[in-house]
Amino acid sequence: MQAYYLRIMTNLNTFKIDITKAEQSKINQVDFDNLAFGRVFTDHMFVCDFVDGVWQQPKITPYQPLTIEPSARVLHYGQAVFEGMKAYKDDQGKVWLFRPDQNFKRINTSAARLAMPEFPESYFFKGLEELLKLDNQWIKSGVGNSLYLRPFVIATEPAIAASPANAYKFMIICSPAKAYYTGKVRVLFAEKYSRSANGGVGFAKAAGNYAAQFYPTSLAQKEGFQQVIWTDANTHENLEEAGTMNTFFRVNDTLLTAPISDRILDGVTRKSLVQLAEDLNIKCEVRTVTVNEIKTAARNGELKEIFGAGTAAVISPIEAFKHGDEVFELPEITDSYANLLKTSVLNIQHNLSEDKHGWRYEVK
Ligand SMILES: *Cc1c(COP(=O)(O)O)cnc(C)c1O
Repeated sequence: MQAYYLRIMTNLNTFKIDITKAEQSKINQVDFDNLAFGRVFTDHMFVCDFVDGVWQQPKITPYQPLTIEPSARVLHYGQAVFEGMKAYKDDQGKVWLFRPDQNFKRINTSAARLAMPEFPESYFFKGLEELLKLDNQWIKSGVGNSLYLRPFVIATEPAIAASPANAYKFMIICSPAKAYYTGKVRVLFAEKYSRSANGGVGFAKAAGNYAAQFYPTSLAQKEGFQQVIWTDANTHENLEEAGTMNTFFRVNDTLLTAPISDRILDGVTRKSLVQLAEDLNIKCEVRTVTVNEIKTAARNGELKEIFGAGTAAVISPIEAFKHGDEVFELPEITDSYANLLKTSVLNIQHNLSEDKHGWRYEVK
């Protein structure tokens, strides 16, 4: 892993990004103690256009609106993919990313599934590094504070024909984020609607996957459940994941999480937690998790915890779930795996503990 990062860093010196700095920073207008997630953006953004089969000279410009044709294909056919990652600042002012190679690979896996061109690795890393250098002041130190990074790609070619575009825009925008304690979440296990299907795009961070969840999630919210845990589309018997988080179930002292498939997103947080569980001697089984076994475990008092895992909230504990007409409340526990694992991940991300798997990447 270290060798991998070294190779990227050597490649970074070979080309330049065209940089236009913002005339004035907006940072003094921002109330960093009261940030709503994803509403405030930093002074700069990274942009790279794909034209005539080639990625053009990458640019960093002041954060500003885009001009695109109303016929741009992304607006009609949803040809768009994205990523979500964070930058952290430690007490010495060093800036870190967490397993960015995974996000890089995943955006290209997502892009390939939507017939979009792959983005070059050196542009991705150099873009992030230059952007984070310019917007360094926006990254606040302290556990829980971070700068959320949103790389994304959209089809910009103006032509309303339902086929892949030949012009794209790759961008990165950045939004300061607070440690966010959403409190415990109540969820509904899906019985009718589905997030993804076999052979579909569930494993990709494709924009349309999220729009498709808004309606069923709003129905759940009317019943007092903030999120839906999706089940497999064929039988609705197996638990898969939440809208933007993978899920873990603790039965007695064993953690269970569904295996990755073409319906489930391969979360960086999920796979890091599976590894950290092993490091901490917590038994973790990656296997099909059925709705029935979780209901039975809940009835027998063996279900101790359910939590979601994803970059934005790291770990989001769940206090209750509904399936059929039954609502199951989870017990209050003191030795929560959710807390233990969350602390372990945060300590690695913020450079407060040993990084024995080589997950941290310093932005210099
Ligand atoms: C982004 C996302 C996750 C979490 O992935 P991380 O890499 O841990 O942030 C899980 N499920 C879905 C559907 C997602 O979009």
